Amino acid sequence: MKNVILLRYGEIHLKGKNRGFFENALFQNLKNSLEGINCKISRIAGRYLVSEFEEKDIKLITEKCQKVFGFVSLSHAMEVETSEENIVLAVKTLMGEVEKNSAKEVITFKAKTKRADKSFPVKSDDFSAFLGEVVLDNFKIFKVKLSDYDIELNVDIRENGKTYVFCDKVNCLGGMPVGTAGKGLLMLSGGIDSPVAGYMMAKRGLKLFAMHFHSFPYTSLQAREKVLSLAEILTDYTGGDLTVFMVPFTKVQEAIHQKCDSAYMINIMRRIMFRIAERVAEKNNIQTIVTGENLGQVASQTIESLTNTNSVMDVIPVMRPLIAFDKLDIIKISKEIGTFETSILPYEDCCTVFLPDNPIIKPSIKNSQKQEKFLDIENLIQEAIENIEIVKIKPKK
Ligand code: ATP
Ligand code: MG
Repeated sequence: MKNVILLRYGEIHLKGKNRGFFENALFQNLKNSLEGINCKISRIAGRYLVSEFEEKDIKLITEKCQKVFGFVSLSHAMEVETSEENIVLAVKTLMGEVEKNSAKEVITFKAKTKRADKSFPVKSDDFSAFLGEVVLDNFKIFKVKLSDYDIELNVDIRENGKTYVFCDKVNCLGGMPVGTAGKGLLMLSGGIDSPVAGYMMAKRGLKLFAMHFHSFPYTSLQAREKVLSLAEILTDYTGGDLTVFMVPFTKVQEAIHQKCDSAYMINIMRRIMFRIAERVAEKNNIQTIVTGENLGQVASQTIESLTNTNSVMDVIPVMRPLIAFDKLDIIKISKEIGTFETSILPYEDCCTVFLPDNPIIKPSIKNSQKQEKFLDIENLIQEAIENIEIVKIKPKK
């Protein structure tokens, strides 16, 4: 008898001929996520299986598996070679543990058998009834109940000669395997929104890269560490390493500050950020840019501002998964994914340096272009790109 974790996937079932591609990506992402933990990962028809782990690692493995996009649920199961005797033994062991860990006086249950292996001689319903009797004969605490029961005792008799016995079902995050929807460049600030935006797009299968603009020495080393910590938290969801492009933005900001109308400071800054992001994306075969922008949240996020900054993009689309979210809903997700506490650390972002008192709320594209004429924009962009520092963030152990 062996303890294993059974993982089930969702939407991939819909993918017809491409299913193999999605299944392979999911398998690889699971492997990446469990790297460094002693265990075996295998596939059985339509499921994945983690086994041969140490008892002490079960919690960690469970948490890691829950975050691999593509899985909808998992169960902690006992695996036995299929035979009536072995299954009965597993059922007794499992229900014994349930009894031991419960404070209740009565636990209601229903036994449910799935017989994918039709060579097993007893029909599913008959076997469920038989197992129900076994439980009632051996434990006083359990009562059969066919609806609204406390636990479901599942017996899954598979084609591979193995049977899985379990009674828990833990939700996973769902989504699509990372990497199956292409690559995206997340514009990652130190704020609350952009990590959430990255998480949401990774959930739809995008392989993330990140880009951060910093204004050292106006922004501190702590601000830098904060962003890299956020990137590290995101690696829980990115199916492996996360490459961060750290762009030195001080010279650009100083030039805008000196030469342009201060009301356009943020607008021009964002137009240059987008241009740099687009060029780096193109060079690295990254197909889209992701931001945490949100309609109406600040002056740079009015429909006019969004249209204005978007207009500098030549070919690459910008995805803004949070566009219609309320701040409280964004905060809720950021707490769930574990970025909130880091996001609210009080270190300045480059956008807050040189912050004007009177940012333009509805910048016209024409006026922005006029302002940009005061700058040697091409050289500023080139120099920033040439001095990008690439940081590869490894998943936390
Ligand atoms: P966030 O909470 O993500 O910082 P925000 O509400 O503070 O967003 P803005 O500062 O206007 O809004 O930024 C909008 C988006 O622009 C961010 O979500 C992020 O995608 C991008 N961005 C802002 N500052 C930076 C930066 N320093 N480096 C990279 N991207 C940035
Ligand atoms: Mg911000």
